[in-house]
Amino acid sequence: MSEAPDTSQELSEVLEDLRRHLLWQEEDGGRFLQVDARLAAELRGAGLARLRAQTAKPAPSVAAQPAPAAAQPPPAARPMPPRAPPPEPERPLAARAPEPPAARREAPASRLIEAPAQPRPLAGPLPGVVEGERPTLDEIRRELGDCRRCKLCDGRKNIVFGSGNPRAELVFVGEGPGADEDAQGVPFVGAAGQLLTKMIEAMGYRRDDVYICNVVKCRPPNNRNPEPDEVAACEPFLRAQLRAVQPKAIVALGKFAAQTLLRDSTPITKMRGTWREYEGIKLMPTFHPAYLLRQPAEKKKAWEDLQQVMKFFGKQPGQRG
Ligand code: URA
Repeated sequence: MSEAPDTSQELSEVLEDLRRHLLWQEEDGGRFLQVDARLAAELRGAGLARLRAQTAKPAPSVAAQPAPAAAQPPPAARPMPPRAPPPEPERPLAARAPEPPAARREAPASRLIEAPAQPRPLAGPLPGVVEGERPTLDEIRRELGDCRRCKLCDGRKNIVFGSGNPRAELVFVGEGPGADEDAQGVPFVGAAGQLLTKMIEAMGYRRDDVYICNVVKCRPPNNRNPEPDEVAACEPFLRAQLRAVQPKAIVALGKFAAQTLLRDSTPITKMRGTWREYEGIKLMPTFHPAYLLRQPAEKKKAWEDLQQVMKFFGKQPGQRG
């Protein structure tokens, strides 16, 4: 890019603030976007073209940059959530792009990620959601449609939305479909899925008792890690799924699930085994079953993590119901 690095950095900062502001608005039930004059001028003027050019590719890491003055929250509103901690090179999620590539922005805007018409009280099982207003999984699936919001659509055979009990008390969140899942349209049916099924059964559940889904719904080519723009495009649907199911606990399988849901770039090796909270729901980060297949010695730790979940539900190993 020909522009001076400081301009590029500034635009990145503005974009990141805008993204966070929109998330915050959505969570707060807001309908109107309030932007400051500087941001508005950027969007109206010559900055727009550069902004588009910049967001056509995954944006540079913005999490480690100093907080800009732009995009103030509206008066009398709660403060925006804190910025994510600085990324480390091997943790791509911390460098999440604020928007999907420009070529995909023509996709119909998602109703799910628009702000609702009425402000929602911060009450009930999930902040910002009241009983009766939450979308159903069917509605979310319809909203996802034949999704073309990111480049993963090009190589997929099937969208892998999720499977299991729509009212599950326990949800497992993985990373993204592999070849078997892509072929069948069902999460966790390959080798890692068979291990996950064993883990679920060892906890005293049947697979159909729980709900299983992924951060990204389409298979990354050659099973590569999902890229930040792909995670960003799919994440609203994952969050909507969790709102729809309203589980009592979530098991985040691997770093992508844990880091995405918690907005925390701590390595999974450090995060696992300690209860966290996701929108008022208990969340247990643990190792991904595919990692456990490669490192069977780590299964013991994963089992310890799952035993904490069992304890939370008052379950004995192998005990159903
Ligand atoms: N790995 C995942 O993270 N999800 C799947 O659905 C399958 C393998």
